[in-house]
Order: sequence, then C-alpha cells, then structure tokens
Amino acid sequence: MKIISTVAELRAQPRPKGKRRVLVPTMGALHAGHLALIRLARKNAGAQGEVALSIFVNPLQFEPGADFSRYPRPALADEELCRKEGVDLIFRPAPGEMYFENRSTFVEETALSEPLCGASRPGHFRGVCTVVTKLFHLLTPDAAVFGEKDFQQLAIMRRMVRDLDFPVEIVAGPTVREPDGLALSSRNQYLSAEERAQAPIIRQALLEAAQSDETSARKMAAAVREKIESASLARIDYVEIVGTDDLRSRLTIEPDSLLAVAIFFGQTRLIDNILLR
Ligand code: AMP
Repeated sequence: MKIISTVAELRAQPRPKGKRRVLVPTMGALHAGHLALIRLARKNAGAQGEVALSIFVNPLQFEPGADFSRYPRPALADEELCRKEGVDLIFRPAPGEMYFENRSTFVEETALSEPLCGASRPGHFRGVCTVVTKLFHLLTPDAAVFGEKDFQQLAIMRRMVRDLDFPVEIVAGPTVREPDGLALSSRNQYLSAEERAQAPIIRQALLEAAQSDETSARKMAAAVREKIESASLARIDYVEIVGTDDLRSRLTIEPDSLLAVAIFFGQTRLIDNILLR
C-alpha cells in the first residue's frame, strides 16, 4: 500500500494505464461505514484494479466555529484498516498541499446545495465540491464511492459530474449502522454516554415514519419531531421531507420522497435519512 502525502509525489507516480482506479474520498477516522465503501470500491475496480482512498480534513467545508481543529485524526489506525482492506493507495495531503493561501477559485453547485444541510451550513457544499474536484483532477479516478448517509452530498456529486463532464462514475453505498440503528459517523465519538444512549431515537423516528401510512408531509414531519423531542438531549436542526430528484420540500409523501433529519446532541450534529415508499 502506497501512502502519498504531497501533490508532487502523486504527480511523480503517473497511474498505470488500463488499470481501473476507484476513489473513496474521506476525512479519515475510518469506521465500518468507510470500510463498506472500500469493499464496494474493490468490487467496482475488480481484482486487477486500484482502490485509492483519500484522507483529508477539508478546512473549506467546515463553517467558522465548527469542529475542524478537534476532528479526530487517528493516522496509524486508519493506515492499519486500509492495509487490512487491501487499499492500494492512500492520498493524505496536508492542508497546505491542497490550498494556496490566496486561492480564489471554487466549485459551486447552486440548486441541490441550498436546502437541508446547505441551509444550516453555509459554504459547506462549496467546500465539498471544490475539494472533490481537486481530488478528481489529482487522482483521475474512473469511479468514486460516496455513502447514502450523506444523501445530499451524493446527489450534489452526481449533479456536479453531470454538469461539469467529469469522466467519473459515482457509486453509492448504503448506510452502515450500529446494532441499535445509529448511523456510524466519525462524530459519534464526540457523544457523551448519555447522548449516545439517546441517539438511536433518530433511527427509531425515521423507521416509524417510513412504516406509517401517513400521506401528509407536514403531519409526518410533526410526528418525527415529536418522537425525537421525547429524547431530552436532542435538539432538532431540521426534519424535512423532500424529493430525491430536487431535494425540495414535498407536501405529500410520494414514491420519490426522502425523509432527512439533522439533530444536535450537545455540540454534535448527526444526520440521517430514509427513503419513503
Ligand atoms: P466522511 O469521512 O465522514 O467525510 O465520509 C466519507 C464517506 O463515507 C462519505 O461518502 C460518507 O457518506 C461515507 N459514510 C460516512 N458514514 C457512513 C456510514 N455510516 N455508512 C456508509 N457510508 C458512510
């Protein structure tokens, strides 16, 4: 397994021709959700192909005051997991490798980025689009794998490659969960024991909604809010029912509806979603 930390090194090792390369972009602190994406990448690349994983805590996608500096960076544990999973290449640049101090060019998707997390985290998706564009240029993958836990991010990636003609196939991986239903996230380790004990309420509320025959989006959202608010430490950022195509609010539950939520437990913001019908 090669570990590359500078752009110069990456450029000095042009990728072998005819070998399919599949990229898994991450911010590190790898967990079983990331590992499932690595396996999906391997399946897509084939035994002869190459699985590349990037680890970059991207300052551009953290809003001021967010958890950029305290985001976990367990470099050795991440390397070990990648080695075990048969990753071929880790690209782990320092922030100074990726951005010039006087950078003035960004990539922005302007429709799907507006609602949901885009409304709560201004500039977040501009940071994501910019860094993923750079990773695509630097690593020239044939495909890239993203998790459905970040459904909005996945939709934006699909839109970005379509609109800007990136020759990159976007592959989606299902959300991996703890046995109690909590979606795995590198941020789960911020939770106190009490918060962790209450956090599965998110999945319970989503499942209850998906299993109900409610057809009014307003009523369904109200039921989800009530359920989540029954957990004393939960604070709702948003509970939204949107179309999977445009991520815009729906009045009624339709076959293409997505129930998406962002919930704070203390300072920790957790997101999850479920497809309806
Ligand atoms: P992150 O390191 O949090 O930026 O995530 C890197 C990739 O892993 C993104 O495509 C995420 O959607 C995906 N991911 C994060 N958590 C999970 C999970 N629990 N299940 C599946 N994929 C995930």
